[in-house]
Amino acid sequence: MVIHNVDPLKCKGCGKCIESCGLELWELVDIDNGKKRARVIPGAGEICHTCRSCESRCPEGAVTLIDEE
Ligand code: SF4
Ligand code: SF4
Repeated sequence: MVIHNVDPLKCKGCGKCIESCGLELWELVDIDNGKKRARVIPGAGEICHTCRSCESRCPEGAVTLIDEE
């Protein structure tokens, strides 16, 4: 199981993590002031194959994958 942590102070809602994931595990959600923030679709993280594209393609360095036993 891997956790996809998104730093709320860094994420700009650009959507590049969505484009990067071949399994289409990401979505943008509305936050305050009309802004958007990325997250992995609830429950979808269980099928992530840990390619780390989302992590490496985020221009803000907002995504961190955390391996959990
Ligand atoms: S690529 Fe990074 S900054 Fe852009 S929406 Fe995804 S997490 Fe946020
Ligand atoms: S590690 Fe790969 S499969 Fe998993 S969410 Fe990121 S881009 Fe998608």
